[in-house]
Amino acid sequence: MTAVRGWCPSAWRPMAAGDGLLLRVRPPLARLTRAHALLVAELATRFGNGAIDLTRRGALQLRGFEPAGWRAAVERLVSAGLVDLDAAVEAVALTVAPDWHEGDDTHRIARALAARRGELPELPAKFGIAVDAGAHASLGDTPADLRVERGADGGLILRADGRESGMRLIRDEAVDAVIALARWFVTSGGGAAGRMRRHAAALPDWAMGEVPPREGVPAYEQVAPRYGRLTGAELAALSDGAEALRVTPWRSLLKETAGMIRPSDGRVSRTPARPGQEAERPSPADLPAAAIDACVGAPACPQASVTTRALADRLAAARVAGPIHVSGCAKGCARSAPAALTIVGRDGRFDLIRDGRVDSPPTIRGLTAAALLARLGAD
Ligand code: SF4
Repeated sequence: MTAVRGWCPSAWRPMAAGDGLLLRVRPPLARLTRAHALLVAELATRFGNGAIDLTRRGALQLRGFEPAGWRAAVERLVSAGLVDLDAAVEAVALTVAPDWHEGDDTHRIARALAARRGELPELPAKFGIAVDAGAHASLGDTPADLRVERGADGGLILRADGRESGMRLIRDEAVDAVIALARWFVTSGGGAAGRMRRHAAALPDWAMGEVPPREGVPAYEQVAPRYGRLTGAELAALSDGAEALRVTPWRSLLKETAGMIRPSDGRVSRTPARPGQEAERPSPADLPAAAIDACVGAPACPQASVTTRALADRLAAARVAGPIHVSGCAKGCARSAPAALTIVGRDGRFDLIRDGRVDSPPTIRGLTAAALLARLGAD
């Protein structure tokens, strides 16, 4: 099997990481039924090393597979309808705002688009489509290249990533417009740029629009495991008493019972439930840790030259003001939004960026972990 690096893995094209193959599962409509959750939990434990990462595109990444175990797991996932038999269809990164209700715009358009994925052209590996058509658009920080969103005027819009505004959509023509804009991206040379926001070509006249998204923050009861990491046993426990779990691109899960997900004041549970326990609600003192994003880092990721989560834990324990993003390399998998402190591993040392992203100019380069902690008052 060929190791595929530098782009996102899929179920059919697993990435070789430091702890074995990664198997990515993107649940249809961001929804794992309880039976699906138990299956994923079982496969992660039986064939992988038990670790599951929630990703910023609303997928689950199961870690630590050998090739034979990966194949056995994929066969089970195909049988359960969690992975498409067609690798090209499975590769289309479709991210769905998880707070949909049966029959609403997000649900209807995401279902229609999923059914027509085969009409999309061959797209770059990281190209993604977000369906974000609830009362507000909430996936602005989620990586995607084409966005179906709730517009500021209350209607539906299609927005090319990187543009401030989008074109108005006629409800029943939304999927046609998405497919047409994806085809334009390819025929206008977008493949060389790889992503819509880097594609300099002017949009076709029909895709120009002046309606910005109506942005909003989701307010549902979420369980957000630390750094988006949970075990198979924890996933199984979380599904207890739920009809389904919605997988969010905020690296959290929403519980669905009786077809409903519960609204909240926006606070989230930080700790996944252990078997036999309810997920814990955080005390206010826990909240600063939630403002830290850290990718898996070394040694599990072969592109990292530094460990990340131990450093993030030290910063959390010292209550360094966030948001903080600790990234094992300049790819920045854990966060695309700016952070007060962004710490990027490079050649075994760390670059420090203030009020920026991984690709912003560093304030200081080449710090050792000890020097970095001392400079941030966390030594
Ligand atoms: S950002 Fe982290 S997880 Fe992503 S490739 Fe770099 S080291 Fe690996």
